[in-house]
Amino acid sequence: MRILVDVDGVLADHVAPALAIVNREQRMAFTRADVKEWAQQLGDTDIATEIKRVLADPDAVMGMPVIEGALEALNMLAEKHTIIIATSRPFGTSASTRNWLWVNRIPHSCFVCTNDKAALEGDLLIDDHLPFVAAFAATGRPAVLFTQPWNEDMPCVCRARGWQDVVRIVAELEP
Ligand SMILES: [Mg+2]
Repeated sequence: MRILVDVDGVLADHVAPALAIVNREQRMAFTRADVKEWAQQLGDTDIATEIKRVLADPDAVMGMPVIEGALEALNMLAEKHTIIIATSRPFGTSASTRNWLWVNRIPHSCFVCTNDKAALEGDLLIDDHLPFVAAFAATGRPAVLFTQPWNEDMPCVCRARGWQDVVRIVAELEP
């Protein structure tokens, strides 16, 4: 299978450095569990604005932690499947994003920046953004919503609560 894998919220913890900035600048103690929506208000800013700031700073991008279990799962999946990184990050962040993937040894054959993931060739999408998952599923292909605090209350047909779940779902889909 050709598996399309999102970056932010699936491979990279993009919220961690943004929260660190918010907490430092506002002397607060917000956690990722407080981020219940895409543009969650946090004091006098919102997380989407702060993530944009982080993405504009290559050093901050490099500091993003890998989401737990992602590396082990992808190494396993890459033995049998083609991994295509599909991110909606701005095209200008491609260099730092690809550098992050390389430094963190994330196995992949291909890298795409797009806001239209449903238009990509591929057999399965793993993403934490429900509109992308819904649009991909509407093309008749399986799509998995990777659970995060900002999507956990949303109804979804296929959901992965972590990378072990992704591996199990892929195994079920294998011919
Ligand atoms: Mg994402």
